[in-house]
Amino acid sequence: MKKIIGLLFIAALLTGCAMNLVTGRKQLSLVPESELQLMAVGQYNTFLKENKVLNPAYSSDAAMVDRVGARIANAIKKYYDSHGKAAVLKGYTWEFNTVESKDANAWCMPGGKVVVYSGILPITLNEAGLAIVMGHEIAHSIAKHGNERMSQGMVQQMGGVALQVALSQKPQQTQDLFMTSYGIGSQVGAMLPWSRQQETEADKYGLIFAAMAGYDPREAVLFWKRMAAVGGSKPPEFLSTHPADETRIKNLNKFMPEAMTYYTAK
Ligand SMILES: [Zn+2]
Repeated sequence: MKKIIGLLFIAALLTGCAMNLVTGRKQLSLVPESELQLMAVGQYNTFLKENKVLNPAYSSDAAMVDRVGARIANAIKKYYDSHGKAAVLKGYTWEFNTVESKDANAWCMPGGKVVVYSGILPITLNEAGLAIVMGHEIAHSIAKHGNERMSQGMVQQMGGVALQVALSQKPQQTQDLFMTSYGIGSQVGAMLPWSRQQETEADKYGLIFAAMAGYDPREAVLFWKRMAAVGGSKPPEFLSTHPADETRIKNLNKFMPEAMTYYTAK
């Protein structure tokens, strides 16, 4: 019996691998994206209720976040539609919100639910810097990195049960896993850093997305240097999930020539 369960489990893992349309990499994907998007709507609305959301009609920062978000979302939609990959953005209904917070953080839930914390704006410094951060987070989302982490967590913590089963049996643990998988809020305990491979992919596609939207991708190197400089003894939350180190700068410089081919200043 144990053997059969073991075999079934391995079969589930094998069939649970999917080729990502953005990166072309095979990744573990045990949870249907549509279910994650549904869960994201609930978690996103709860987060917005519990935090102070800045109104773009009165806050130029929030208006800038909206503007950058819309430009990136439009650029990638045009790109993937024209390359026969409309499925990349299946189920995406973008929402961009800015919350007032001392924390330097930003994230994108499945389905395009984005939050930028005002505490990151002194480090992004200008609109192109913000586009680098938002492009990076959006890249994590559409490269399905959160799904990959959620799937790994479901295997490690819950023996690979279906999301609906996990939600009904262990609702809190499942929601906490969702939050840590997407880099949201440290109230649920230790933040999981993204893997090096996920970071490299998010950097590469983030640069390209910012460039497509008319933002200078070269701002990325300057942004990450500023982020590294505010590290110190109490580093920003963003750094605990996105380490700013030399490998990142090296990779950014490696990807820059390709990103520049997508860039026309607007
Ligand atoms: Zn990242």
